[in-house]
Amino acid sequence: MSDDGDHKLRVSKIRSGTVIDHVPGGQALNVLAILGIDGSKGEEISVGMNVPSDRFARKDIVKVEGRELSQDEVDVLSLIAPDATINIVRDYDVIEKHRVERPDVVEGVLSCPNAGCISTGDEPVSSTFEVFDDAVRCSYCGTIVREEIASLIDT
Ligand SMILES: [Zn+2]
Repeated sequence: MSDDGDHKLRVSKIRSGTVIDHVPGGQALNVLAILGIDGSKGEEISVGMNVPSDRFARKDIVKVEGRELSQDEVDVLSLIAPDATINIVRDYDVIEKHRVERPDVVEGVLSCPNAGCISTGDEPVSSTFEVFDDAVRCSYCGTIVREEIASLIDT
């Protein structure tokens, strides 16, 4: 089977909703956390983890039935899955497909790991991080985070 046919098969299993493809292997559960999905509301979710991929050694796929993602959700998603593809599915057809784009700045999304940072104190200061290709940087204290960005996400 060609890769294209294979791809189509994998993403077309949901009726209407969103398929998030090309998530780095092992990040699917973080994607669900970002979307606020824990299964408690009866959400219909399929997750493929560590699926062989031509773009990565291994990738994860998350399919969410009956839901299209907001731009805010896609922005946060891009922090942990910069190469993810968002497929919008309606009536089993992919009607829209696009790569996520990283925003230049995210506000109120990440918690600064620096306990002395003004954004983690009692002051009502919303966290602000600049987003680079391979890291994020706190706009208040300059702390740079390259790995474990997922663990900083406020969910
Ligand atoms: Zn900070």
